[in-house]
Amino acid sequence: MKNFLPRTIFEEEHDMFRDTCKGFVETEVRPHVDRWHEQGYSDRSMFKAAGDLGLLGITSPEEFGGGGMPDYRFNAILSEELAEADCGSVIVSLQVINDLVIPYLERFANDEQKERFLRPLCAGDKIAAIAMTEPGAGADLAGIRSTAPKDEDGNYVLNGSKTFISNGIQADFTIVVAITDPSKGRAGVSLLIVEEGMEGYTKAAPLKKVGLKAQDTAELSFEDVKVPAENLLGEEGAGFGYLRTNLAQERVSIAVGSIATSRRAFDLVYKHSQERKTFGNRLVDHQ
Ligand SMILES: Cc1cc2nc3c(=O)[nH]c(=O)nc-3n(C[C@H](O)[C@H](O)[C@H](O)COP(=O)(O)OP(=O)(O)OC[C@H]3O[C@@H](n4cnc5c(N)ncnc54)[C@H](O)[C@@H]3O)c2cc1C
Repeated sequence: MKNFLPRTIFEEEHDMFRDTCKGFVETEVRPHVDRWHEQGYSDRSMFKAAGDLGLLGITSPEEFGGGGMPDYRFNAILSEELAEADCGSVIVSLQVINDLVIPYLERFANDEQKERFLRPLCAGDKIAAIAMTEPGAGADLAGIRSTAPKDEDGNYVLNGSKTFISNGIQADFTIVVAITDPSKGRAGVSLLIVEEGMEGYTKAAPLKKVGLKAQDTAELSFEDVKVPAENLLGEEGAGFGYLRTNLAQERVSIAVGSIATSRRAFDLVYKHSQERKTFGNRLVDHQ
């Protein structure tokens, strides 16, 4: 990205991190983008390479395999550099991990859950998703209908469906928003971690979209899925408040990714307008 104005928010350690991101984009992303667009998702090995380079869980505690740097600027730099590969899908895939799922685990998971879920995410050994949206509940999350009351053995029994879930097909586990106590309204909403292979948990083929062609965006169905109590994230009934807290970072990340992608488009047009000649002049000279 060419900068026309100096950017003063970054420090030396951020510049070093940016170089690592550039290397990652050049070797692990750009060469594969056309193929990923064809197949509809990026390779699992891309997540592993990101983990090996310390690009996942940058903000997470070192004791759980994270980078130990609670500084959002690192996450923003990764998104900015990924825009250079002309593959918005990878920005979304990695933002879902760094900016959506990991903050929930950092804030609300207990140590046992951090060991099981946060550590492999930071390492790039697992892929994760978060499932809020339903066919009848998007902007208005209070409209969710998925239910998960407890059975006599203490398991949550999850029924319902989710749609537009980024990383949905590839995810090894998904944080699912569900109503655990319908009598309590918003105070009856909880977050459950549903793992690949749980009985009754199915995923439809990735949705066909106008853009983000290499991003697996899925529909998920839950039919009497028994989710053990140890997969409850945080307090039962506190889910709505958790969403309100964490959606802020998701929204900032979408803005950062969108601006970076727009800048990339601008740079490409700027370059083209300097090279392309019409009526004897470069496009850029027809002002
Ligand atoms: C590519 C992609 C990836 C996604 N990934 C995920 C994911 O990983 N996990 C997940 O849970 N969800 C995901 N979503 C879903 C996304 O969060 C929803 O699409 C979003 O919340 C909007 O919901 P909706 O599409 O049902 O639109 P609706 O809620 O039906 O809204 C339609 C339009 O009306 C506007 N609108 C709604 N209410 C009002 C109001 N009160 N006043 C004014 N305008 C209003 C909205 O802004 C929108 O423009 C993804 C969606 C896409 C397209």
